[in-house]
Amino acid sequence: MTNVSDATRCIHRPAIVTEGYASLAVPTHRASTIAFPDGNAYARRKERGPDGYSYGLAGTPTTRTLEAQIAALEGANRTAVTPSGLAAVTLAMLAVLRPGDELLAPDTVYPPVRDFVAGHLAEFGVSARYYDPLVGAGIATLLSGRTRLVWTESPGSTTMEVQDLPAIAAVAHARGALVGCDNSWATPLLFKPLAHGADISVEAVTKYMSGHSDVLMGSIATNDPALHAKIRTVIRHLGIGVSPDDCSLALRGLETLDVRLERSARTAMDLAKWLQGWPEVERVLHPALPDCPGHSVWARDFAGASGTFSVLFRQGYAEQVTTALSALRLFAIGASWGGTRSLVAPMAVRPFRTATAWTAPDPVLRISVGLEHPDDLRADLDAFAAVLRRVRRPPGPARAAAE
Ligand SMILES: *Cc1c(COP(=O)(O)O)cnc(C)c1O
Repeated sequence: MTNVSDATRCIHRPAIVTEGYASLAVPTHRASTIAFPDGNAYARRKERGPDGYSYGLAGTPTTRTLEAQIAALEGANRTAVTPSGLAAVTLAMLAVLRPGDELLAPDTVYPPVRDFVAGHLAEFGVSARYYDPLVGAGIATLLSGRTRLVWTESPGSTTMEVQDLPAIAAVAHARGALVGCDNSWATPLLFKPLAHGADISVEAVTKYMSGHSDVLMGSIATNDPALHAKIRTVIRHLGIGVSPDDCSLALRGLETLDVRLERSARTAMDLAKWLQGWPEVERVLHPALPDCPGHSVWARDFAGASGTFSVLFRQGYAEQVTTALSALRLFAIGASWGGTRSLVAPMAVRPFRTATAWTAPDPVLRISVGLEHPDDLRADLDAFAAVLRRVRRPPGPARAAAE
C-alpha cells in the first residue's frame, strides 16, 4: 500500500511473513468482525455452519482450540465453552428443557442453580424436584413421564456425596430422560462423566482447569451432535461468547492441570487425615476417606481425588469457626476453589437442603488446598485451631477431649 496517507497506514498494516514461525503457545485470536474474501462469500456466510468462522461472538481459533482440547479430555465428540461454570449448567438445562418438562436435581446441587431453577425455569413452565444424591438406581421411583433431565453433581457441593452416575443414567435412559453431570470437582482427569453414562458433562473451568483464580469459564461436553447443536443454538440465541483472552489463560492453565491436581490432592489428603484427629472436628468429608458418603462409588469410578474437601466441626466449635478464620495467614477466605492459593469458605448447608435433612451444625468449612508447602499450611491451620480452642471450651466430656 504505497499511495495512502498516514491515517490510513495506521489502520492498514503491512503484511508480514509468518512462515517459519512455530511457537509452542496458542495464539490469542481476538475478533468481532471476520472478513470475507468477496461479497458472495459474505452473502453465503451461513453455509460455514457453527464450526466455521463468520462472527467473533461464536468463537475464534483460540476458542476452538480450547473447546477441542476439553472435548479430547472429556472423551467427548463436541464441547462448547461458556462465560462461567454457572452458565454452563444453566445453558445445558435451557438447551434440553421445554415447558411442561420436569427436572430432577440432587439436593447437593451448586446452590445458585437452585435459584435459576426456582426463578427462570419455573417461569418457563419447567418444574423441578430435588432428590437424595445417594439415591442411585432408586431414582426409578422419582422419575415421572415428564422427567426430561436428571441432573447430577458428583461429589455434591460442600458435603461431597459421590453419586452413582452409572446406576442413575441406566434408569433415566430406560425412561427416556437425559442425564447431565457437573464434574467440576474431579475435572475430566479424575472422572469422565460421558464414559459413565452422562449425556452432558459440565465443568466449572473457573476452578481447577484454569487453576489460577483469574478466569471465569465453563464448558459443556457431549457426544451427541444433535444435543451439541441445541446447546450451540441457545448460546447463539442469548448472544453469549467467551473472550479469547480468557480462553488463552484457560489453555495455559490446562498445561499444568495434571501436576497441580496431583500436588493439591496429596497435600489435601494429608491435611484431611490430620484434621480427622482434631478433637474439635466431628467429621472430615473427603471422597477418598472411607466414611465419606458414596466413597465406594468414588473408589470404583474415579481415577483419584482433587484437593477440595470439607470439615464438620462439633457443636460448640462450629459456631466459632467463622470468627476463628481470622487467624489464617496463608489460606485466603473466599468463594470458588481450585486455584494455586489455598482457600477456605464457611458454608451454610441447611438452607440448601430440601429433600434430605442436614443435621450437622452449620457452617461447614470448605477447604481448597493449593500448592503451598504442606508444613506451612499445617502451621496456618494450627493457628486457627488455637483461636478455636480459646473461644470455645465446651463443658463436660467434650472439654476433656478438647484439652
Ligand atoms: C463453582 C461451581 C460452579 C460455577 O462456576 P463459576 O464459574 O464460578 O460460575 C458450578 N458448579 C460447581 C460444582 C461449582 O463448584
